[in-house]
Amino acid sequence: MQKYEKLEKIGEGTYGTVFKAKNRESGEIVALKRVRLDDDDEGVPSSALREICLLKELKHKNIVALYDVLHSERKLTLVFEHCDQDLKKYFDSLNGEIDSDVVKALMYQLLRGLHYCHSHNILHRDLKPQNLLINKTGELKLADFGLARAFGIPVRCYSAEVVTLWYRPPDVLFGAKLYTPSIDMWSSGCIFAELANAGRPLFPGSDVDDQLKRVFKLLGTPTEDTWPGMCSLPDFKPFPLYQPSLSLSQVVPKLSTRGRDLLQKLLICNPSGRMSAIDAMNHLYFTDLNPAVKA
Ligand code: AMP
Repeated sequence: MQKYEKLEKIGEGTYGTVFKAKNRESGEIVALKRVRLDDDDEGVPSSALREICLLKELKHKNIVALYDVLHSERKLTLVFEHCDQDLKKYFDSLNGEIDSDVVKALMYQLLRGLHYCHSHNILHRDLKPQNLLINKTGELKLADFGLARAFGIPVRCYSAEVVTLWYRPPDVLFGAKLYTPSIDMWSSGCIFAELANAGRPLFPGSDVDDQLKRVFKLLGTPTEDTWPGMCSLPDFKPFPLYQPSLSLSQVVPKLSTRGRDLLQKLLICNPSGRMSAIDAMNHLYFTDLNPAVKA
């Protein structure tokens, strides 16, 4: 730890406190995340350490780089690349207006980061605006990748705040235990709508029931025909049979027809029908993406 000088606290996350710090040798600014474990006395589980060390190999411009893993006195500190701010704070600075080209550029980068991780068999499982980091140059980077597998899917933040359900897909809300990249694709759809609406969340549910009700009211309640196996999920319970709302145009009025088509394909209740990251990147919505972003 002597290698780093702590500068200031920058956030409280799901797994612990995040500090801005400086590498004393190189002068480089980094973000230190001190991971709190449920039972610090037990030390860091070796399975978690193995998982975390694998994440050091994930290197991509849309993923927050993990430079180092410091393990001492049964504590774990992760040293990450530092970014300017997170998407939630960015939304707060927008005053309800966002340029449609910015929405497109951020969404493309989110999908590209997801595709890279999914193609390396790493899932996020807790994507939300707070762990999408952005730099002044408009670069977007995904943070906290792979941590859910190392430490368990978060239920509470370490500060005892309940983790948000807003970005969780219906299969996970019904207790599905089989985790596939489709989980992150649902979250990316929710974030896409939130981007298009300059920070207004799409499904701000207050609990699991309310969350599912909001989803089904917009998309229609799935049935065994549209989603075979749904009724056998561990926490399944029947909901009123809502018909899908006529169109997404009222929900995301500023999004183009192509954008709405992409959104519709990400927000599919049956996880096996949800679009993948690579297919989403190749969607017609991105035809006129700024070539500098694609490069
Ligand atoms: P997290 O545990 O990733 O949700 O982090 C909590 C908060 O700390 C985030 O919402 C960010 O505002 C901030 N943060 C996390 N990682 C970084 C980083 N690498 N660079 C800058 N800020 C970060």
